[in-house]
Amino acid sequence: MKLFPRLFLAHLLVILVALGALLLVAEWTLPGVYQHHVEQMVQAMGDRGRALRPDLEAGMRGALTGALLLALPFAAGAAAVTALLTSRRVVRSVALLGEGSRDLAGGQYARRLPEQGRDELSELARNFNRLAAALERVEQDRVALIGEVGHELRTPLAALRGYSEALLDGVLPPAAVAPAVEREVRFLERLAQDLSLVSRAEAGHVELDLRNVPVQDLLDAARDRFAEAFAARGVDLRVARSASWVRADPERAGQVLANLLHNAARHTPPGGTVRLDVLVGDAQVALTVHDAGPGIAPEHLERIFERFYRVNEARTRGEGSGVGLTIARALAQRMGGSLNVTSSAAGSVFTFTLPRVTAESRHADPEQVEPAGL
Ligand code: ADP
Repeated sequence: MKLFPRLFLAHLLVILVALGALLLVAEWTLPGVYQHHVEQMVQAMGDRGRALRPDLEAGMRGALTGALLLALPFAAGAAAVTALLTSRRVVRSVALLGEGSRDLAGGQYARRLPEQGRDELSELARNFNRLAAALERVEQDRVALIGEVGHELRTPLAALRGYSEALLDGVLPPAAVAPAVEREVRFLERLAQDLSLVSRAEAGHVELDLRNVPVQDLLDAARDRFAEAFAARGVDLRVARSASWVRADPERAGQVLANLLHNAARHTPPGGTVRLDVLVGDAQVALTVHDAGPGIAPEHLERIFERFYRVNEARTRGEGSGVGLTIARALAQRMGGSLNVTSSAAGSVFTFTLPRVTAESRHADPEQVEPAGL
């Protein structure tokens, strides 16, 4: 049997049984109570009362039965209407939930259910809507990622096609084409590496080799790596000194710093200064990269951490794959830290934090090495 008739009959049955019980109890108890009063009256009135007794009793029974018989259809009608409304509401909600789940399974992630009310059925509808919204976001992300990857591949592939056609037609000699082909292939290689790293970093599947690291080691490595590139651009790189220690994977932390310094160098005009400073907090150490670039407009500030987001798409295409900061933030977070940015017309400040290791906790862990596969 379908849910609606089952619920309706069950409701009706319960109410009718309750009515029947009420009738029986009334028929059973009321005459006794009534008789007690009649007895008192008969005693007070004497023979005249005794003569009236059968009449009084018959009248009471008749009135009681009549009233109950009259009330019964009204009560039954009200019970039927209540049962109908309640059953309809339950069945409608269950049917909507069923339709919604079917649509969701069929890929219609924009499907939502009405949420009015505060009962369990409305809560169920609200939870369904939350689930649908989460699935919709995942699906939008998936579609966007495929589109973005296709978009990123199109430009270098078009360039490579142009060069191969030029070679085949003999328009350009191989020696003239080789450097450009090499550049595009390198870009594609980096894109492939970045894509694989960004998906692993976002899913938390990056292997980390976490250890207690002197911050000075990270600063020295960054300076050694970038000194030449900064000098070549005519940008002054000033690196602070620090006696603090952090818990980090030195290679991954170096990768985050490299991304920040690379961006800072790119955006700071010749003659400008980039500073790599250290701020020591109770639980975290912040490495800050200050540049003297044009700054980043507020509408771009948070978006630069999104995959493939570039502030100036046309100008910066080819300079990077647009996922550098996405990877950097994911790595910082995997190491228990964070990566944020503030910016003004005087330049941008990227703040990369890592968990601080105090002298006491360092001595309690003399090994200083704890490989962690996350
Ligand atoms: P890419 O790998 O292409 O460099 P990123 O994820 O590192 O991409 O950067 C995202 C966007 O943020 C780019 O458009 C870049 O130009 C911009 N950006 C990053 N760092 C800075 C900075 N220090 N000053 C101004 N813009 C920046």
